[in-house]
Amino acid sequence: MTRTAIVTGAARGIGAATALRLAADGYAVAVLDLDEAQCADTVTAITEAGGRAIAVGANVADAEAVESAVARVAAELGAPTILVNNAGILRDNLLFKMTDDDWDAVMNVHLRGAFLMSRAVQTHQVKAGWGRIVNLSSTSALGNRGQANYAAAKAGMQGLTKTLAIELGRYGVTANAIAPGFIATDMTRATAERMGISFEDFLAGAAKEIPVGRPGYPEDVAAAASFFCSEGASFTSGQVLYVAGGPRA
Ligand code: NAP
Repeated sequence: MTRTAIVTGAARGIGAATALRLAADGYAVAVLDLDEAQCADTVTAITEAGGRAIAVGANVADAEAVESAVARVAAELGAPTILVNNAGILRDNLLFKMTDDDWDAVMNVHLRGAFLMSRAVQTHQVKAGWGRIVNLSSTSALGNRGQANYAAAKAGMQGLTKTLAIELGRYGVTANAIAPGFIATDMTRATAERMGISFEDFLAGAAKEIPVGRPGYPEDVAAAASFFCSEGASFTSGQVLYVAGGPRA
C-alpha cells in the first residue's frame, strides 16, 4: 500500500528536499505551499525521479483553505497519513521594534498552521490506525536575539509535538519535531541580505561555529524526517531532534 504524505512549505528549501526524500522513500507526496504554481519545480523533480506528487496551493494559517487542501489530497492521492509541518516565515526584529503584525504573522504560520494541518490530517490518521507527524522547530527555540516571535513559535512547536504524541499515540500515530540549526536556504539567504553580508561570507561564518565544520543543507533535515516517518520509528514519539551539526547552534 502506498502511503500519502503532505509536506507544507514544500515549494523550496527544507520542504522541497523533504518532499523529494519522502517520494524517494516510496510515499505519494502532496507538495503544499502558498502558491500552487510555485510547487511545480518540486513536483517535476519528484515525477522525473519516478515518484508520484501533486501541487497544492493553500495558506496553512487559513482554516477553510486547510480543510479543502487536505480533502483534495485525500481524493487525488489517497488519505494523507504523513504530515510534515514545515511552512515558515521570519519577521525578525529586536523586541522594541517588533510590530504586532510581526508577532501575529509568525504565530499564525508556524503555530496556527501546524495546529490546523494536524487537526485536519489526524482524522485520516486515526481512521487508518497509523500516522506520522513531523514538526519543524529550530535551535532558535532555545532563545535567539531578534527573534522573540520566532523563538516563541518554535518552542511552541515542541509543546505541540509532545501533546500530539500523547493524544494520538493510541491510534498508531507518532509526532516528533526536528530542530535544525543553520541550514542554507532562501530563509538564511534573506537573513544575510538583511545583515548586509554576502551569503557566502554568512555560510563561512556559520560553518566556523558549527562542530562538524559546515553549514547544514536541506537534505540533512530531510534525512531526519525520513527516519521519523519510517516504520522503524513507530516507538519514537514526542521527541525533539536537533539537526545542527553539534549539540547546539
Ligand atoms: P524557506 O526557504 O523560506 O521556505 C519556506 C516555505 O514555506 C516557502 O516556500 C514559503 O512560501 C512557505 N510558506 C510560508 N508561509 C506559508 C503559509 N502561510 N502557507 C503555506 N506555505 C507557506 O524556509 P526554509 O529555510 O526551507 O525553512 C523551512 C522550515 O524550517 C521553517 O519552518 C523554518 O522556520 C525551519 N527552520 C529553518 C532553518 C534554516 O536555517 N533555514 C533553521 C531552523 C528551522 P513563500 O515562498 O510563498 O513565502
